[in-house]
Amino acid sequence: MDHGGQTTHFGFKDVALDDKQRLVNDVFHSVAQRYDLMNDLMSAGLHRVWKDLLINALNPPRNGKPFALLDVAGGTGDIAFRAAGAAGAGFRATVCDINPDMLGVGRARAAARHLAHRISFVEGNAEALPFPDRSFDATAIAFGIRNVPRIDLALAEAFRVLKPGSRFLCLEFSAVDVPGLDRLYELFSFKVIPPLGKAVTGDAEAYQYLVESIRKFPKPNAFAEMIRAAGFLRVGHQPLSGGIVALHSGWRL
Ligand code: SAM
Repeated sequence: MDHGGQTTHFGFKDVALDDKQRLVNDVFHSVAQRYDLMNDLMSAGLHRVWKDLLINALNPPRNGKPFALLDVAGGTGDIAFRAAGAAGAGFRATVCDINPDMLGVGRARAAARHLAHRISFVEGNAEALPFPDRSFDATAIAFGIRNVPRIDLALAEAFRVLKPGSRFLCLEFSAVDVPGLDRLYELFSFKVIPPLGKAVTGDAEAYQYLVESIRKFPKPNAFAEMIRAAGFLRVGHQPLSGGIVALHSGWRL
């Protein structure tokens, strides 16, 4: 698709809009098998706490009431698994991701946990979701939107597939705003994460991309504006762990 020579960021590099997705796909192809282990190591397990806070906000019904969650850029399925653990018998999740390697790991996890009947895995692009309008009771995207070349399209799609009266939740790395922690975080990000990524996955560049892409992602107020522009109402965000991460939320009303 020709987008008139538009460019975007792949980490700190300027790349053609149409090249970014290919580069992102290479990253997740390379790290898929060790993705979950690496998340635990580099966040010291904190990503579990952040994801649980998203599940608390999602608040899926504990009874048998039907509830359909779409986990966009859901990768190996963490959000869907955690939501299934908190929800009642009517809960179903669809994990949609562009990368078959990440989905493959997720499918194997679902089978091992006997959750294959409640969680399905669908290959698809967040910018053009393969689902009908108004088909989900919630959409979530965790640490995914930063990787999507056209964030505005992904937000518009998250809105389109939601039933009116339903919530969009998004976890993403944010901007550390605690003096002292900010310098420590910079040091840890650039000096520890890429070598750790190399030791665990064999791919330092994938984790160099991670830390750079976090710096390039819009600041929380700017991202909240983008969520509003997609049509969501009651938009808000909450910084977590000193701003390392933010939990964004909006409603389709
Ligand atoms: N949500 C999972 C989690 O929290 O562990 C996975 C997050 S992982 C950092 C980012 C995911 O975004 C990868 O699985 C990648 O394949 C996916 N992704 C990147 N671009 C995408 C796109 N355009 N559409 C759908 N998924 C995409």
